[in-house]
Amino acid sequence: MSPAPGIAIRGPRSLLRQIREAMAGAGPAQAKLDMVVRIIAVSMVAEVCSLYLARKSGEMELFATEGLDPGAVHVTRMKPGEGLVGEIMRQGRPLNLSDAPSHPAFSYRPETGEDPFHSFLGVPLLRGGRAIGVIVVQNRTSRVYGEDEVEDLQIIAMVLAEMVSAGDVLDPTQLKDVELAPQRPERMRGQRLADGLALGVAVLHEAPVAIGQLLSDDPAAEEARLKTAIAELQAQIDEMLEGHQAVLGPSYDLLETYKMLAHSRSWNHSLVEAVRSGVTAEAAVERVRNEHRAGLGQARDPYLRERVHDLEDLNDRLLRHLAGNGGKARALPDNAILIARSLGPADLLEYDRAKLKGLLLEEGSPASHAAIVARALDIPCVGRLPGLRDRVSEGDPVIVDGETGEAYLRPRVDVVTALQARMTVRNQRRAEFAKLRDTPAYTRDGAKIGLYMNAGLAVDLAALTETGAEGIGLFRTEFQFMVSEDLPRFNAQAALYARVLEAAGDLPVTFRTLDLGGDKVLPYLEAEREDNPALGWRAIRMGLDRPALLRLQLRALIAAARGRPLKIMFPLVASVDEFRAARALVDHELAWAERRGRAPPSRLDVGAMIEAPSMVWHLDALLPMTDFVSVGTNDLIQYLFAADRGNPRVADRYDPLSPPALRALKRIQEACAETGTPVSVCGEMAGRPLEAFALVALGFEALSMPPAGVGPVKQMVLSCDREAARRGVETLLKATQGSVRGEMETLARKLYVAA
Ligand code: PEP
Ligand code: MG
Repeated sequence: MSPAPGIAIRGPRSLLRQIREAMAGAGPAQAKLDMVVRIIAVSMVAEVCSLYLARKSGEMELFATEGLDPGAVHVTRMKPGEGLVGEIMRQGRPLNLSDAPSHPAFSYRPETGEDPFHSFLGVPLLRGGRAIGVIVVQNRTSRVYGEDEVEDLQIIAMVLAEMVSAGDVLDPTQLKDVELAPQRPERMRGQRLADGLALGVAVLHEAPVAIGQLLSDDPAAEEARLKTAIAELQAQIDEMLEGHQAVLGPSYDLLETYKMLAHSRSWNHSLVEAVRSGVTAEAAVERVRNEHRAGLGQARDPYLRERVHDLEDLNDRLLRHLAGNGGKARALPDNAILIARSLGPADLLEYDRAKLKGLLLEEGSPASHAAIVARALDIPCVGRLPGLRDRVSEGDPVIVDGETGEAYLRPRVDVVTALQARMTVRNQRRAEFAKLRDTPAYTRDGAKIGLYMNAGLAVDLAALTETGAEGIGLFRTEFQFMVSEDLPRFNAQAALYARVLEAAGDLPVTFRTLDLGGDKVLPYLEAEREDNPALGWRAIRMGLDRPALLRLQLRALIAAARGRPLKIMFPLVASVDEFRAARALVDHELAWAERRGRAPPSRLDVGAMIEAPSMVWHLDALLPMTDFVSVGTNDLIQYLFAADRGNPRVADRYDPLSPPALRALKRIQEACAETGTPVSVCGEMAGRPLEAFALVALGFEALSMPPAGVGPVKQMVLSCDREAARRGVETLLKATQGSVRGEMETLARKLYVAA
């Protein structure tokens, strides 16, 4: 449907064009701004139009006015939250009042002479969700501005925000001290999500729409373009959901909400209204996004805040459809540091790996998609940096310190120099570890320690040859699910497993079945909200309750192995009955494959992860049922200490190098030795030299770790006398303090161990 002629004419298109002309060309910034407020006042039939811009001090300053006393320009200033302008800045959304002086936030400024004006409409100039200014229109009569007028002024505000921020429209020296973009060096402290150091230039994942793309010449064509993109987006989401209802169960409802948002009339209506007024479809998306950010972003209700995420995702998707690249990420400069609120499944994989050097996130947790993929790709990443996107502009120099969990924005020269020195040392150490690649890991007294690596994505496989690991001790199959847009089907699963087995060649691979739930949630398989997800419906519990999902995976594993050895293990076994039931499913699938004449694995080992403390007290029953076990210390320790591994407030409070944790580990090792059950440790601690030293001292002979740990741990093993270490750690087990980290370090030093 083409727009009604009245609407196209009513829109601020011609007004925007006049503003653009006023801003173009040479001339002092002040004269241009004076002209702009005059044009807006005339066009909107307002007696007053004023423009406020934010100073670096955070105050909003009157920069230009038509209708108020010109003497107030550069004199009247409002702090955030002060007066109506400060209130708009703080809230980031419009304020529409029929009688401004009676509003509780109204602050009377005699110098402005605004007494006679009652009606007031103010709209923030937003950049990336941050208010850099406020545009106000006022009239004498007491009236409420119509919805159309509010929308028009919002579009004007968006265009003004872009024009004021673009250095080529207003001479930046004339706007000196205006906080258009942050300029000072800043250090932000966040959470380490992927180790490493990087120095580069900021690239905003959610890039602002370029200024040249704001105004459209042909609203009808623009509307058609928008509608096509919306239709494509809706079809894409519908397709994502199709056929998954049975598997998804209760989580289907949550995704339905997402689908409903995509089809929401009000969202569609707002977008269409915006293009009809003369802006491009991209600008319309940006405007509606800004409104939602400002409105819902402040909601206290977590459900509503969650919806902001959904809307942001939808907006991003829609922009990609408009760009016509059907979801592809944009090109990167060299040394790019990606800045994002959070990244969805597969987002990171779409960027050019050779150019992407680091990642900074406002949100994210160690188990988030972005963090997992960043670690797999060896890209340093720091998360939990609230307000990051407001404090960094595209092209700013940025440092990612994945060792300390810090981000430096526009760093000082001395900070850059210090970082470069650390990068050099790091590279040298890497080169040393690389030299040990083909050296087998024997302790000085001749014990062979098997060093394996943890993996989860196809991109991890390269590390197998790079590190010289002896196999994959833990393949986290859920990662494929976490980075997929939707549920991987049988063929996709089997293809990945076959690829992993091929890459490993003769080296063993232990596939862990889906460990979802808890901190690993899928957008398309989200479970019902639980008060305690880490103690809730996750891992093998989910697998046994949804046997269709688990059996499909077992079938894919058996199919991928075809005549090769296969090792499968189940996560978070908390009762022997669970293991028994899971093992029965394996037997069932094996029989199914045989009935169909498919080649069975040449050898099948089925193991359990020891992650629940309950199993430490039932090893006598568990071990005889298993072909092997692997200790997941990340979970075992979180459950031992009742401390959420993903919560930074408590995660670092308890030490695996403590008598209770070490005694539990010793008990497992001894029970396995007595029954001849092969055992490995596959939690993160296995990849840290000092912790690995303790594990070797306790008698463990197989460690599986993140690839980056293999070199340093091998160096430790080669320098270690296991018998001497055993004697030393025996004493530490009896210690009466909460942590024996210091004592462990002393012991390692005394024994000349490189830990
Ligand atoms: C663990 O819990 O130690 C483990 C290896 O599994 P994940 O980290 O995947 O939970
Ligand atoms: Mg675990």
